[in-house]
Amino acid sequence: MHPSGADTVLVRHGDVGVKSGKVQTEMERRLRDNIAAILADRGIDAEVERRWSRLLVHATEENVEEATTAAADTFGVQSASAAAVVSPEQAVIEETLADAAREHYHEGTFAVRARRSSKDHPFTSAELEREGGTAVWNAVENPEVDLDDPDITFSVEVRDDEAFVFLEKRDGPGGLPLGTQTKLVSLVSGGIDSPVATWEVMKRGSPVIPVYLDLGDYGGIDHRARAVETVRKLAKYAPEQDMRVRKVPAGEAMTLLGEEVGPARMLVFRRFMYRVAEHIAREESAHGIVTGEAIGQKSSQTARNLGVVGTATTMPIHRPLLTMDKSDIVARARRIDTYTDSTIPAGCNRLAPDYPETNATHEIAQNAEPDDLFELAKAAAENVELIDL
Ligand code: ATP
Ligand code: MG
Repeated sequence: MHPSGADTVLVRHGDVGVKSGKVQTEMERRLRDNIAAILADRGIDAEVERRWSRLLVHATEENVEEATTAAADTFGVQSASAAAVVSPEQAVIEETLADAAREHYHEGTFAVRARRSSKDHPFTSAELEREGGTAVWNAVENPEVDLDDPDITFSVEVRDDEAFVFLEKRDGPGGLPLGTQTKLVSLVSGGIDSPVATWEVMKRGSPVIPVYLDLGDYGGIDHRARAVETVRKLAKYAPEQDMRVRKVPAGEAMTLLGEEVGPARMLVFRRFMYRVAEHIAREESAHGIVTGEAIGQKSSQTARNLGVVGTATTMPIHRPLLTMDKSDIVARARRIDTYTDSTIPAGCNRLAPDYPETNATHEIAQNAEPDDLFELAKAAAENVELIDL
């Protein structure tokens, strides 16, 4: 729902704003480029401009809706509003509000909210809200004001030379612009959790190298497809990054673990997996490993077991979902559009033993693991294959 004539997207950032001057400028530039990349990737013809502490997307009335969605899909964006840009005169603003009301306000309650950037205008924000409210009131039948929880909000932002009138604030992901933090390797299995974990670190500004361990007979074509499809969805949020899936052959190692390791099998597998990720991270100049693990979600993820598996690598392991409930992870997966691909039935064989170890110690894990586990991990990582999206 936009005012008629809306052809510009007003973009607000969040955490970028708490940075000091120089860093903020750099981050805003990055945000501008990232929004431009998403617009281009979606074939939306629009220009992005950095202005004050905001960004403006100069679109057209025809594509302003798509441009708003694109901005709201960009990491670092707090919210985006499709706005009509008019001259900063009270009469003009009031007429724009009245027009918007006639077009969009047919029932329920309303409020007018106004802000101005300088004190040079001959009206205060409060006056603008009051007079704008009157203009809306007179434009429609049966208006009702509710300043606390209105059904429709008419917003005005007045700058020196122009005023922005809008009706919506679309939530973005928040976070920081992608590329403003160091690169990380993310272990993506294609299940529900790992794509969400990956998205979470991308949201904080880290580009991600997706690593998928092909489990051979314990995985299968559909298991692999799930991983690739979820990464394809994530890559839409990062068109300027190389997010090809790094597929590592782990079938042989799985068979070995299935035959030789008992209750601690899943822990040994985790240790193998982290080592693989560490090798790829070094190759790709990444500085940490991301997983979808959460405390207690599975037997291999008890608080105690997470500690034991983590010592396989000296690289930091980041677990953005550590404290999240499954229902919240599922809700997030739906929002970022990875849920459907994550739930393709993979029908793979089960590697987990019937009575898994939940309370491991280093001794238990290390005694259970084949002596050459880390060499196997290295060899597997060296056979990495790139999967185009
Ligand atoms: P997910 O956790 O991704 O929903 P899952 O529940 O099947 O999938 P878990 O057994 O919970 O996987 O594994 C915990 C984490 O280990 C995953 O979130 C993922 O980061 C990583 N992982 C598991 N299997 C693989 C794999 N085959 N390739 C890459 N990473 C994996
Ligand atoms: Mg999981």
